[in-house]
Amino acid sequence: MTDTEPTTSAGAAGGNGHEPVTMEFLADWRNAAYNCFSSGHKFCREVCPVMQVTRNESWTPTAFHANVVAMEQGELTVEDVAEDYVNCTQCGACELRCPNTLFTGDFYRFRTRTVDLVKQMRALAVDNGVHQPGYRRWNELTDERTHEPVLGDVPVSQDRVRDWAEGLDIPIGGETILFVDCEAAFYRTSVPRAVAQLLQRAGYEFGLMREQWCCGGPAAEMGYRDQSRRFAEHNLADWRASGVKRVLVLDPHDYITFTEDYPAYFGDDYDIEIVLVVELLAQFLAEGRLTPTVPIERTITYHDPCRLNKRKGIWQEPRQILRAIPGLTFHDVDRVTQWSYCSGGGGGLPVEKPELTARISASRLDKAAELDVDTLVSACPWSERPLSEAGEARAIDVVDIHELLAESVGIEVGGSTGR
Ligand code: SF4
Ligand code: SF4
Repeated sequence: MTDTEPTTSAGAAGGNGHEPVTMEFLADWRNAAYNCFSSGHKFCREVCPVMQVTRNESWTPTAFHANVVAMEQGELTVEDVAEDYVNCTQCGACELRCPNTLFTGDFYRFRTRTVDLVKQMRALAVDNGVHQPGYRRWNELTDERTHEPVLGDVPVSQDRVRDWAEGLDIPIGGETILFVDCEAAFYRTSVPRAVAQLLQRAGYEFGLMREQWCCGGPAAEMGYRDQSRRFAEHNLADWRASGVKRVLVLDPHDYITFTEDYPAYFGDDYDIEIVLVVELLAQFLAEGRLTPTVPIERTITYHDPCRLNKRKGIWQEPRQILRAIPGLTFHDVDRVTQWSYCSGGGGGLPVEKPELTARISASRLDKAAELDVDTLVSACPWSERPLSEAGEARAIDVVDIHELLAESVGIEVGGSTGR
């Protein structure tokens, strides 16, 4: 065994050769798996960012469902297949493309749920003692530091999580708080600085969390659901203790965690309003609370973050912001919804397979280059590091949408872009 191979420490088996937790998983996913297996049209493959660059048939939504059928038939175990499920960014493109969602979903009230299947299979692996080495290390470090172990100028620790806000005079607590994801808080600090100063310029009152921990979403994405839940419980308790009613998020991953994972953990007791900053800023522009006046002479296209466009249907507001900025020449992508491209930066892929993330980012930049642009604008801090690295080779600058808007309203953002 090499140090890149998964390790196992499974306990006693239950019925049909599977652990009880596996039997429960198979009962949950049997119907969806047979639905895909019996259709088998594979339309999902061509929109999958992993498939686009690897052409590996074991790493497709079709295979992810077929494995469940094989497990149910006693042909495979979670140990056999766990490593394949690393190869997914949880972008959601396949779900939108699947004819079982597109053509029959309305009538039968069905949506293919590959993202959820991948998350649950990863969790099943962890529950069976099957670990991917990168995931395990990442989550151990996150647990130790209460934040993800991102690399950057600011050391990752609890007492440095608000360092990005230095000099901005933001209070702690209040009914509305700004939650800043780990990548932006410790690495690309220019993003939260831009957001905070835009909110201040619009006269919008907000504070910072008393004790912010990682949202817990990445742990859930990699299968460490107990850890995810502990982090969620900490954050919710912190919000409750300081009277928070509304949480602003700038990161699409946090948005998914707070609007999907937390409600699943806490049910009807979860009464926190979650506001995506991009939507709030588009509203401020429409209301005249922010007016971009500084021309920005760039030729741009926009990178739709998967978790906004494909998973949440949010694609209009970022475009409203970009069209409000004077000086920009905007070449929009010709394909939205299921065809928009992924950065490769999500779903834990860069943790376990950074080389695959780099190939997906390079492919995304190739698409941008076809539009003859000098700048790719993104609304997701986690995409910006791999996209920037791929952009350097093609002389395409990768810029965050919040920073671009801040520049156009005359704000000197400060902080680090990580470069
Ligand atoms: S996920 Fe959907 S499109 Fe892909 S093979 Fe299964 S049923 Fe067909
Ligand atoms: S969620 Fe994205 S990366 Fe994962 S299988 Fe579907 S298309 Fe591929």
